[in-house]
Amino acid sequence: MSDTDALARLAAWPRVSLAHLPTRLLPVPRLAERIGCRKLYVKMDAESGFALGGNKVRKLEFELIPERLEGITHLITAGGAQSNHCRLTAAFAARAGLKCVLVTVGPEPESPTGNALLHRLFGAEILTVPEREDRTPAMDVLARRIAAEGGRALIIPIGASTGLGSLGYASAALELLEQLDALDDGADSTLLFGSTSSCGTFAGLLLGLTLAGRADVQLIGVSADAPASEITSATLKLAVDGARLLGTSLGLTPAPLHSMDSQIGAGYGIPTSASIEATDMFGRLAGIVLDPTYTSKAAAGMIEWLERKGVEKGRRVVFLHTGGAPGLLS
Ligand SMILES: *Cc1c(COP(=O)(O)O)cnc(C)c1O
Repeated sequence: MSDTDALARLAAWPRVSLAHLPTRLLPVPRLAERIGCRKLYVKMDAESGFALGGNKVRKLEFELIPERLEGITHLITAGGAQSNHCRLTAAFAARAGLKCVLVTVGPEPESPTGNALLHRLFGAEILTVPEREDRTPAMDVLARRIAAEGGRALIIPIGASTGLGSLGYASAALELLEQLDALDDGADSTLLFGSTSSCGTFAGLLLGLTLAGRADVQLIGVSADAPASEITSATLKLAVDGARLLGTSLGLTPAPLHSMDSQIGAGYGIPTSASIEATDMFGRLAGIVLDPTYTSKAAAGMIEWLERKGVEKGRRVVFLHTGGAPGLLS
């Protein structure tokens, strides 16, 4: 059963329009044949259209609404040196005439490339910190310093993974459901694979599918860094936060969610032989650019799953392409 009140609240929720929506749901027949899965599609959120696109655009549409920016002089956020989220936040700040400070994990690159180049191109000030754990405290210190100097900062948490940001992916789930329901491919259930890290994307998908009452879409998040158990609990927590904003709860039967952590390899952002192979396959067989940190590992996870378990007849597979191409060019 669907939660029509919460869905109506989601539809009416304020957002700033940044993305070109809907993103396409692309059939990829040559890739499908190679992977041995007849009904394979790619949901192209890599082409969400704002400042080279990616999944963070949908979350920022909910985070950066005019009401929240009233009186704000600075946006502060944080990420890796190649953060896609930092790129999009900096681009938004440039367009809105706000100052942007990015806290990234050091050292300062000698000649920045990829997203690091774009952070600077969009005019952001960069503060580097030695470790990933240093980022959130550094953002708080910065916000206090800006306040002491008479400004006012809005801190966007890492990855815009908040209950609010996740509403962007609850909406994306509904967009995808409409596209799936319009496919005349004989499938009656869907496996949806994608990359997961700060978990707002999968939390939103989980929330959207649950509100729509759609257990026929099973989510499989492939971790870019953390163990699967941590990913699952962080995803559920954010989905609960998002549900609360909509005046509802996730209920007793959230949509099916599974997290995989078998593709992390030597760690966050470090390619593996499987991720390099997946990047080659998507490039050669579909003209699709995967990134080294997230989507190539998610694609490798999808291929691993399909090799191990196969796909039942009547099931289609969707790969959510969350973006990140600038990282490949770094
Ligand atoms: C941030 C990011 C992810 C992970 O999304 P989360 O919402 O943080 O889990 C996946 N792919 C790309 C390209 C990203 O930039």
